[in-house]
Formats: sequence, C-alpha cells, structure tokens
Amino acid sequence: MHEKTLKQLKKKLIQEKERLLKILKKNEQKLKEDIFDKTGDRKFSYHLADMATDEGFLEEISIRASHAHRRLKEVEEALARIEREEYGFCLKCAKNIEVSRLRAVPYAKYCIKCQEEIERKSGFIS
Ligand SMILES: [Zn+2]
Repeated sequence: MHEKTLKQLKKKLIQEKERLLKILKKNEQKLKEDIFDKTGDRKFSYHLADMATDEGFLEEISIRASHAHRRLKEVEEALARIEREEYGFCLKCAKNIEVSRLRAVPYAKYCIKCQEEIERKSGFIS
C-alpha cells in the first residue's frame, strides 16, 4: 500500500473515531437527562403509555450506543494495526485487503472473500 493511501485511510479512521465519540457523548447526555426527568417532578404522573414511549426511547439510545461502541472498537483496532504496521492485511487469510474496500470501510478486518465467508457462517448459526 502506498504511504499516501495509508495516510488518507488513517485520517478517515481518526475522523470516524471522533464522530463516534461525539455520538456516544451525546447519547450519554440524553440518557442522563431522561433519567433525571424520571427521578424528577414527572415521577408520580406516569401513565403506561408514557412508560412505553420512554422505554422505546431508551432502547433506541442504547442500541445506537452499542452500535457506536462496537464500531469505535473496530476503528481503534484498525488504528492500532496501522501503528503496528499490520494494517491492510486480512486477519484470516493474511492477504492484502482491497484498497477500494478499505476506502469504503477503513476499519475492515477481512478481505471481501473472508468477510463473505464469515457472514455466511454466522447466517447459519442464527
Ligand atoms: Zn481474507
């Protein structure tokens, strides 16, 4: 891989990391506000319908947060691989991951072939 390409991908990863950290921070803030509301004045005026809406809201936030957490971990691992000069190689078959794939998914761990195989296998399990 060209050094220039690597630099571009590293920049992308750092940007993605910052974006995810922002999402997580925002979610945390929202969650705190919501919990504060719950323990505040509205505590005793809860209807079942309100509860349902709030649960949906909390669930949505926690799902989004867990997605962001997982993605953040992948991004951080990719950055660590760059530091170790192991970036761009498939973790399964050790071949080069296609640059076009890395441009689309800079935190990709596997080449397309291995990724498809993994997805097929996990499809069988579920
Ligand atoms: Zn592979």
